[in-house]
Amino acid sequence: MTAGHEAHFNAQLAAVRKIATEVAARHAADVDAKSRFPRESLEALKDAKLLSALVPAELGGSGFGMRQLASLCSTLAQGCGASAMVLAMHYSQVACIVRHAGDSAFFRDYLKELAAQQLLLASMTSENGTFGETRTSICAVERSAGRFKLEKDATTGSYCEHADGILVTCRRAPDAAGTDQVLMLVRKGDYTLTQTTTWDALGMRGTCSPGFKLVSHGPEAQIIPGSFADSSAQSMVPYSHILWSSLWWGIAADAVGRASEFVRAAARRNPGTVPPTALRLAEVSTRLQAMRHNWLALATEFDDLAGRGPDGMKELLTIGWALKLNNLKIGASQAAPQIVHEALQITGILGYKNDSPFSLGRQYRDVLSASLMISNDRIAGKNASMLLIYKDL
Ligand SMILES: Cc1cc2nc3c(=O)[nH]c(=O)nc-3n(C[C@H](O)[C@H](O)[C@H](O)COP(=O)(O)OP(=O)(O)OC[C@H]3O[C@@H](n4cnc5c(N)ncnc54)[C@H](O)[C@@H]3O)c2cc1C
Repeated sequence: MTAGHEAHFNAQLAAVRKIATEVAARHAADVDAKSRFPRESLEALKDAKLLSALVPAELGGSGFGMRQLASLCSTLAQGCGASAMVLAMHYSQVACIVRHAGDSAFFRDYLKELAAQQLLLASMTSENGTFGETRTSICAVERSAGRFKLEKDATTGSYCEHADGILVTCRRAPDAAGTDQVLMLVRKGDYTLTQTTTWDALGMRGTCSPGFKLVSHGPEAQIIPGSFADSSAQSMVPYSHILWSSLWWGIAADAVGRASEFVRAAARRNPGTVPPTALRLAEVSTRLQAMRHNWLALATEFDDLAGRGPDGMKELLTIGWALKLNNLKIGASQAAPQIVHEALQITGILGYKNDSPFSLGRQYRDVLSASLMISNDRIAGKNASMLLIYKDL
């Protein structure tokens, strides 16, 4: 990393810290109460040019690696989990374009446009009838005279109504098998969305994730080259699982931060004594640190691999990497609710109440989504099959 790049990253991290405390945290309760898009956070992120953090510098972005992106997401999550989830999902989509369509003239221009205009990308992998299995599609892209038509009935589409484009999975052609998928960009103005379900959810309410019927068309160049099997294993899964884990940690850190303020306030009331809750705080801080080290370690390993070019990309297709990424996701999604629960035991009733400065309701509800966002059971099932043949533990 050059000194200039490091200075730029530090400045962007400081910008996110400011957005987290001065914008995201300020509006988080209203976003949650109204189940509305965190537009203030997103406007601030766009103003700070953070939506192009992953776009290569030569195309107008910051060219940040996984560890840097995870630091940004985890920092924002300490102000508002839903805002951080929107940012993390956007980065996962941009990663697929940068890493799998970087040689396409169309996508290079698109990335320049994304950086210049701070375009927001959403994701549509879910589909009615595939039951949460992202690696199967029912819908298929139809191509004719250099153009495409695509219709999809998605069960869940986070912030699709607020995005400038959506990356959608579908079958490669009407006669292709369900698992023969491609990933394609559909652009605002070229699609209609008909909302099919509501989004009155327990948590992550600001992600605004109801079901949608998508009807879209556009130039064939918007289909990402190669197969979704590769872009999923080499980019969508690594970016999603590492960035999601980092932001779930950020939510847990926010909860532990509130609990530690609670403990310090108790200590101030009785100078010279250690409040009994301090012991619980010591215990939960151990778990928080372990959780942080898990995503940091994998993000660092991923960056090392990314630095090895095509060989590194090939390695991401191995069972070893699939297991590592799945384990991180399962572990983080289990740890975050447990940590928030521990923090709640420290704050007691003041954390349970929705109108206290120590309130942990939103954080608790938000992290409960972690094990469902790609069901842990589904992922564990895949791990179980892989472990039957994988010996290199
Ligand atoms: C906050 C949030 C935002 C989301 N945003 C988006 C988005 O932007 N775009 C998008 O496309 N999708 C999105 N999703 C959807 C998500 O990616 C999953 O597709 C969806 O949550 C899975 O739905 P499900 O639980 O019904 O599916 P399933 O995976 O089918 O799970 C249903 C049940 O089956 C069980 N099960 C499944 N497989 C197995 C197995 N192998 N062994 C044992 N039990 C199993 C599960 O434990 C669960 O009880 C979002 C989800 C959340 C929570």
